[in-house]
Amino acid sequence: MDKFTLKKKLLDAVEARAEDIIAAGEWIWRNPEVGFKEFKTAEYTAGIFRDLGLEAEEKIGLTGVQTRIVGRDERPNIAVIGELDALLIPEHPEADPDTGAVHSCGHNCMMANMIGVAMALVDSGVMEHLDGSVTCMAVPSEEPIEIEWRREQHRDGKLFFLGGKQEFIKGGYFDDVDITLSNHMATNTEWKITVSGGEEPTPGGVGFMGKAITFKGAEAHSGAAPWNGVNALNAANIAMSAIDAQRDTFKDSDAVRVHYFITKGGDAVNIVPSEVRMEMMIRAASVDAIKDASMKVDRALKGGAMALGAEAIIENIPGYLPSPAQGSPALWRCMRDNALETFDADEIVIGTDDPSPIKVPHGAVSDINDVANIMPKASFRVGGAVGVGHSRSYTIEDKYNAYVNPTKLYVGMILDLLWDDSKLAREVIDEYRPQVTKTGYMDHWKDILEG
Ligand SMILES: [Zn+2]
Repeated sequence: MDKFTLKKKLLDAVEARAEDIIAAGEWIWRNPEVGFKEFKTAEYTAGIFRDLGLEAEEKIGLTGVQTRIVGRDERPNIAVIGELDALLIPEHPEADPDTGAVHSCGHNCMMANMIGVAMALVDSGVMEHLDGSVTCMAVPSEEPIEIEWRREQHRDGKLFFLGGKQEFIKGGYFDDVDITLSNHMATNTEWKITVSGGEEPTPGGVGFMGKAITFKGAEAHSGAAPWNGVNALNAANIAMSAIDAQRDTFKDSDAVRVHYFITKGGDAVNIVPSEVRMEMMIRAASVDAIKDASMKVDRALKGGAMALGAEAIIENIPGYLPSPAQGSPALWRCMRDNALETFDADEIVIGTDDPSPIKVPHGAVSDINDVANIMPKASFRVGGAVGVGHSRSYTIEDKYNAYVNPTKLYVGMILDLLWDDSKLAREVIDEYRPQVTKTGYMDHWKDILEG
C-alpha cells in the first residue's frame, strides 16, 4: 500500500470515530479531577484502551495510564500526550459541586485527541505498515497547584515533582520514547491551529522553581509585653521589601517573575506572630536566571529574618524546566506540512499569532518543557475554546476542532515519521541535541535546587 492511500485510511478512521472522540472529551469535561487525583479519568481511559484490545499500564506517577501500539518495530517510539488534570475554580457553573474542579484549561480536549489516536491506529490497522511504535500517554497533573498537599506526598515518598510528566521521566517511562507530540487549547475561534513555522521555534515558555518558607520568631503578649517577642510577620515584611528591591537587577530578556503569598500570618491578633509561612514561585527563561533570582531571594529572606532576630527556613521545591533554546526543525516542518494538509490555509497560523514585534518567553509554565529538554518534541495550539483560560467563563465552543481535528494532525505526523523505515523519525532523532540527558535529568534538578 502506498503512503497516500494509507494516510487517507488513517484520516478516514479518525472521521469514522469522530462521535466517539467527542463523547470521550465531553465525558472528561463532565468528570473533572485535579492533579494526581484523576482516578475516575484514569480508569475511564484505561477502559477505552482495553476495549480497543490494548494493554493499559496504570498508576504511573499515582494516576497515569499508558498503552503502546507496536508496528513492525519497537523503535522509534512516538509518545502522544494527553493531560488528565483539571483546575480548581468553584465559581465555574460546570465545576464539580463537591471538589470545585473544572477543565478550564481544556486538558479534556488533549485527552480526547490522544484517545482518538489510539482508536484510529487500531481501527485502521496501519501500524503493520509502519516501522516503529506509538505510546499513548495519559499523564497526571500539568498544573502546579495544591502545593502543600503535594509536598506531603513528597515527604511520604509518593511524589518527587509537582508535574506528572516529570514523574514519568523519573520513573523511566520516557527512556524508550524517541519523539513526543503534544498540544494545548487556546481561547480562540479565529483560527483552528497554530504551528511552528518550521525553522524558528515560537517563543518558548519559562521554567520555575518553588520555595516554601517558614519564618520562626517568638510569641509574646502584643499589648502587655511585645518586647518579649520576635515578630515573624515583620521579618517576612522586610524580606518582601528586600525582594522588591532586587527587581531591577533582573534582565528583561530573562523574563524573571518572583511571586508569592502568605499562607500563614500568625496565630492570633493579640499575640506577636511567631510563625509565618509563605509559598513562592520563581520563574525565568533559563536555568541560570532561575538560580540567580533564587540566590537573591534567599539573601532577602535571610536578611528579613536577621533584622528581627528571627529565623528563615527555606525549602526549595522542584518546578519545571524552561523550554530549551534549540529544537527540532525537521519535526516542526512535519507538523506544519500536516497542518497544511489537514486545514485550509486561512484556518491556520504558522509561526505565532502574537502580533507584537518583541517576542518574549511565555510567562506560563508547563512540564512539557522538561520533556523537550531531553528529546525532540512538537506542540501545536488548538483553537475552539472561548472565555478566559483558568476562569469561570471558559468553555469549549468548537467541539469538532477541539476534539477531532488535532487527532488528524497527530496521525498524519505519525504516518510521516514512521513510514519507509521511519526515515523521517530517524532524521529528527539525529538532528536533536538534548539540553539535558535522560540519565542526567535528576542530577540537573538537584543542581538547580541546591543553587
Ligand atoms: Zn493547561
